[in-house]
Amino acid sequence: MTTAAPTESTVTDALVTAVGADAVSTDPRVLDGYRPGKGPFDDLAPGVVVRARSADDVTAVLRIASEHGAPVVVRGGGFSLGGPPAAPGTSPIVLDTRALTRILEIDDATMTVTVECGILMADLHAAVAERGYEVHTVAVPRAHTTLGGVLSGVCGGGFPGDTAEVGGSGQFVLGIQVALPNGTVLDTNAGGSNVHRHVSAIPASDGPGLTQLFIGDGGALGVKLIATIALALARPMVHAGGFEFDELDQALATIEELRRVHEVPYSNLYVVRGPHWSLTYTARASTNQLLAHHVGVVQRAVERHEGRPGNAKLLASARAIAALDPAWADQFMDVDRGAIAGVFDNRTFATSFAELRELVDRRVTEILADLGIEPVVFMSPYGRHAMWFAITLPYNPTVAGARAAARRVTREGYALVAARGGWSEPHQGEVSRLLADAWSPAYRSFVRSLRDHVDPSSVLNQGLWDAPEQVTQQATPRSSERV
Ligand SMILES: Cc1cc2nc3c(=O)[nH]c(=O)nc-3n(C[C@H](O)[C@H](O)[C@H](O)COP(=O)(O)OP(=O)(O)OC[C@H]3O[C@@H](n4cnc5c(N)ncnc54)[C@H](O)[C@@H]3O)c2cc1C
Repeated sequence: MTTAAPTESTVTDALVTAVGADAVSTDPRVLDGYRPGKGPFDDLAPGVVVRARSADDVTAVLRIASEHGAPVVVRGGGFSLGGPPAAPGTSPIVLDTRALTRILEIDDATMTVTVECGILMADLHAAVAERGYEVHTVAVPRAHTTLGGVLSGVCGGGFPGDTAEVGGSGQFVLGIQVALPNGTVLDTNAGGSNVHRHVSAIPASDGPGLTQLFIGDGGALGVKLIATIALALARPMVHAGGFEFDELDQALATIEELRRVHEVPYSNLYVVRGPHWSLTYTARASTNQLLAHHVGVVQRAVERHEGRPGNAKLLASARAIAALDPAWADQFMDVDRGAIAGVFDNRTFATSFAELRELVDRRVTEILADLGIEPVVFMSPYGRHAMWFAITLPYNPTVAGARAAARRVTREGYALVAARGGWSEPHQGEVSRLLADAWSPAYRSFVRSLRDHVDPSSVLNQGLWDAPEQVTQQATPRSSERV
């Protein structure tokens, strides 16, 4: 791993000239803050950090990186669980987007918000809530992750708090403005007519729908500057409930019944393995009458599948989830963990998830238990179509071998998810390479040619989506590059 780059380097000088010395840092203490990710994979080795304050800063950094062939990594909140988007052995420019936070417009006419992509999800949520709206945003790390990071780094553009009801966040994105490393700034919901439009209200409406190309791309195709997102009307009536089941199959049968109800009666629903299988849910509605209806539907389904009311602790947890209590989210924040998280469709979930659990249980017996690693199992419907799951592997970083073991099992788990046709949650770092390893030749070639087109100098988030042998080839010449 490399250390801080020399301040006198030509790339650093060019960055200082372009964006100003106060936005550029090679101070080792600053660089250290950008090293760790949230998972067990390798840390980032920043060469220089640029804190962009405007779209012009972003395009200037991309232009300089391209001219010098210097690797550049886009950074939001740094909450990646899959490792950094850098080719191993490189010491990139880290382009921090967190100062790009302006809400450009909340438009009541089109029910959209247009916002810069460095905004923290909690701030976006609060701003639209003040106007009576909801934006479909992450369940857990609201106070830490950015819009750009979630749209780029998570399968389907993010798993919102209401994933159980609606699926992924990306479907609500109507248009994105992206800075491509080749110097173009592209508005995706675009075409002949886009120049005459104020904000986007219908996706894929001017020509081929380009917005989705940039959802879940890991940031490999460009830097997201601005996004326009469809808003939902906030629902004021809220109920939280919690139940327990002896067997997972009973909880799954309850979900199977509920997901077929016309008006889905929950906005979130989680099943977690504890001493028993617990099921918590939130119901939201516009009126008390509708809320009572939803609650009745859930309770009857639970009873039919032999669930029973949960204890006070479970109910408190359900209420904290429903209230978006930051304290509930914070319990997940400062834990070192591997995580195998993703989605299987309803046809394959039962068998594929059982296989994944068998793999992890085997590794618990062989290595994890001795290192104090006890897996935690979560799942939730992903809209009506599929099931999201996470098996997290919390480890103590001071226990020798614990991080390496968590990394190994995480890798194995994601390889299995890809092999069984599932979707991995992180579109980041090393996990993206495991996914890309399973791509068809046609898909690989199409993505490669897109990247070559938008990034002819091959500088942006180099380590993403390259199957392992391509990473080795790229890393060798580039490892000598220092910014
Ligand atoms: C404890 C924990 C709980 C989580 N819970 C959830 C959850 O409930 N729902 C959910 O959806 N996710 C969840 N995640 C995953 C998290 O949302 C993703 O890792 C997300 O990518 C992090 O966003 P970030 O701003 O921290 O991005 P970063 O980690 O900084 O970046 C993630 C990726 O996006 C790229 N990127 C960042 N900004 C931009 C930009 N402006 N343009 C282009 N590319 C960019 C980066 O290069 C990188 O490849 C959780 C993660 C943790 C650690």
